Amino acid sequence: MHYTFTPGPTHLFRLAAGADIAGGLLDFATANGIEAAWVSYLGAVRRAAFRYYDQEALEYRDLVMDQHLEVLIGTGNISMLDGAPFLHSHAVFGDDRGAAFGGHIAPGCEVFSLEVRMEVLEGDPPVRRFDAATGLGLWS
Ligand code: ZN
Repeated sequence: MHYTFTPGPTHLFRLAAGADIAGGLLDFATANGIEAAWVSYLGAVRRAAFRYYDQEALEYRDLVMDQHLEVLIGTGNISMLDGAPFLHSHAVFGDDRGAAFGGHIAPGCEVFSLEVRMEVLEGDPPVRRFDAATGLGLWS
């Protein structure tokens, strides 16, 4: 598995208060016809929703922190799954004491404000297919 791309345009945009991180990033990609990209972001949320992948059970455990947090760093990528753009993103959140938490971004984060950089990758997009060994949709 190896993909090579030419750098495409880099988009900077902001997700407004109340937006969902996963939904907002994916909506931007879909609206702009983006099938391959690398994403980074920072800002703050009113609520964080993320997941931890249990490598023994091969399933996600959902975690929700219903409090105000900094988004210290978020990163991720856009590739294709079942013919549609798919977001894979992880983030680290910080609380009012500077403690950090994080994981695989899930639907349900509520943005306070978020600044996003999305670097489009020009070329055949990576395609995710189910991988029985991990239970995940991985680049094939
Ligand atoms: Zn992940």
